[in-house]
Amino acid sequence: MAASGFRRKSRANTRSRRSQWKARPAALTRCPNPACGERTYAHRACTACGQYRGRQVL
Ligand SMILES: [Zn+2]
Repeated sequence: MAASGFRRKSRANTRSRRSQWKARPAALTRCPNPACGERTYAHRACTACGQYRGRQVL
C-alpha cells in the first residue's frame, strides 16, 4: 500500500516492515497416496503419481 498524502507512513516504517518480508522454503510433504509415498509440495498435485486428494488430476 502506498499510503500517499494523508496518514503517510514514514520511510523508516515502510523499510522496517519490508525487512521482515523473507522468502520461506517450499512446504514439502509426503504424498498421501500409499502406493507412491513420494516427497511432494503441499497443496499441489503429486509430480510422481499425478494425484491430488485421492483423485487423478494429471
Ligand atoms: Zn504421489
